[in-house]
Amino acid sequence: MKKIYFVLTTLLVAVFLFVSCTSQSLKDNTNVKNTNNVQKVEGPIVFGELKDGEYTEGKVLVGYTDRKAALEVVKLLNGKIVVDLPQIKMVSIKFNGTVAEAYEKIKEANIKGIKYVEPSYKRELIKPLPVENKELTNKFEPKTMSLRGEEEFSTSLWGLEAIGTTEVWPEASGTDIIVAVVDSGVDGTHPDLEGQVIEGYRPLTDEVLPAGTDSSYGGAHGTHVAGTIAAKEDGKGIVGVAPNAKIMPIVIFDVDGYVGDDYVAAGIIWAVEHGAKVMNHSWGGWGYSHTMKAAFDYALDNGVIMVVSAGNDHTDQHLHYPSGYPGVIQVAAAEYYGGNYRTVWFSNRSDAITVAAPGVKILSTVPMTGSIGDEGHSVLSPENDGTYDYYQGTSMASPHVTGVVALLLQKYPNAKPWQIRRLIQQTAVDIDDPGFDHNSGYGLVNVKNAFSGTLPSTGGASLNILVTDAYESWAVPTVFVTLKRIEGVGGDYFAKTDINGIAHFSNIDAGKYEVILGGPDSYERALADFGVGSVPDGFAINWRMEEERQVNEIIQLTSDATKVYNFESEFKVQFTTPLSGASIKVSNYLTGEEYEIPYNLTIKNLSSESGLLNIYVNLASPASTDTTIQGIVTLNGYQIPVEGFIPKDATSTKITDVFGEDAWWTVFGKR
Ligand code: CA
Repeated sequence: MKKIYFVLTTLLVAVFLFVSCTSQSLKDNTNVKNTNNVQKVEGPIVFGELKDGEYTEGKVLVGYTDRKAALEVVKLLNGKIVVDLPQIKMVSIKFNGTVAEAYEKIKEANIKGIKYVEPSYKRELIKPLPVENKELTNKFEPKTMSLRGEEEFSTSLWGLEAIGTTEVWPEASGTDIIVAVVDSGVDGTHPDLEGQVIEGYRPLTDEVLPAGTDSSYGGAHGTHVAGTIAAKEDGKGIVGVAPNAKIMPIVIFDVDGYVGDDYVAAGIIWAVEHGAKVMNHSWGGWGYSHTMKAAFDYALDNGVIMVVSAGNDHTDQHLHYPSGYPGVIQVAAAEYYGGNYRTVWFSNRSDAITVAAPGVKILSTVPMTGSIGDEGHSVLSPENDGTYDYYQGTSMASPHVTGVVALLLQKYPNAKPWQIRRLIQQTAVDIDDPGFDHNSGYGLVNVKNAFSGTLPSTGGASLNILVTDAYESWAVPTVFVTLKRIEGVGGDYFAKTDINGIAHFSNIDAGKYEVILGGPDSYERALADFGVGSVPDGFAINWRMEEERQVNEIIQLTSDATKVYNFESEFKVQFTTPLSGASIKVSNYLTGEEYEIPYNLTIKNLSSESGLLNIYVNLASPASTDTTIQGIVTLNGYQIPVEGFIPKDATSTKITDVFGEDAWWTVFGKR
């Protein structure tokens, strides 16, 4: 097996080639360099966004730069580590209490070496929709039966014909390709999957699943997906798209449903380290997870192709993960209707769709009667006693493409994820609106065309965006990074900078993009809502957004590259309340530095400061009466009213904006 390594750190020293600026809007603000030492000062801890009912209580996922710090958090929360992934520097911690309480404790403790704390978001299987009429309708007429294999139920396998599968079998059938089915488990005792299911992993119990066993803990879904990919070609039952590929079950929907982003990350990493070359993900949900993004990057950077289903909500989806991560192949569902193929009504729309694949009335394997995930069946094979059913949804479309990828990987074992994606795009059959469209992406996937095509040698790359302060003394985490496509077709890419200040875009399309950096993410930083519908309570790094927008730049991405952006800021304070004998204290939460300057009504330019600033006003002697001190902070040209309050007999106040006591000022210095 090839050597596995943690690419997020090593990519920093990668060779940087052609990222050329065609815009001079930010002169001297961008450059390309080796930046291994950008952690002289710790950046702020990032707290993942909380939204009512969308995450699990009693657990936090902690990303660290210093493992000892993570262990301190375990002690602080009186919790225990449940998942430990040194590959992506993350531990998840179970504890008694709410996530919001844990956030408060971690913030109070001010532990150095922690980079992010996030909840485990809830996610769901993309559930199949009911198939009303299980018989083929008159609008759905079989064409050439010979293109559906020679199996018992081949007449139902319209998907094989629609994508030209069987015609390439003499050349490739998925031999030696391991496909991870990241799903509800797979019934390896099914006669049509016998010998197809290799060792898998159940992250919830840290159990290695022996080959050929029943792991359908989360229901029938994963078994159906597995059959579409690699059911056996034996004349009985059905046959999958890549009948000689091997299925590796990774159980992320277990007996109690979704296991959590931490366990999923563990499952994905396990699959990568045990030889999976492509993974099928027919699931998703709200919430950008740093942990899961890192796991997806880990797979992509190791050359593993990630196929995800678009979802069945008939909506335009962007904030849905993992389908919203860069570098994946996103699959819509197609049907055959009245002589044409088209994207089916329920399939999610977006400009990030890669291709469509058959997704209605898909007959595949379901767990056997008495198996763990048995949910019943509508078809029973007299030939092998196997159980089958018709499902439909993008969950059924995705495994068709996953099977196609397995076939292509047999032909091109060393192809990078973007090469396979480009090949699939370029050889898809145009359906729906002419050319690329938001329903089917590039069209209906076609294996036969893909095998006649040429593997592209250009057209994809990986890009790192590293964000630091003006002096490169600290890496800025959780900055929103959008790559807005300004040439060609396809979706924009989105990621946030991680614990190393890097937004990693693995295996994306090459081309011309506008880089837009905003943030850091005010939701994440701000802990806007404790998940109980409360108003923002001031646990903020900084609330402002507009004045923080730092970079818009056009880049031409042609090969693997790293780009460094040095944030800068202007920060001035001016008081309007006359006081005599007072002083201003400037305190930097990141560096621990503090100093005092005389208080007067002139403008104080503090733009050289970098870090998280607090401003105090100290009186020479206790106040003789309640005193309100007012002023204006100018941050990057925006004037923000501020004030402080010194009660009678007190001597000091912190100067804040409307967000109150805990709202420090995030500043980046100025060169
Ligand atoms: Ca079969």
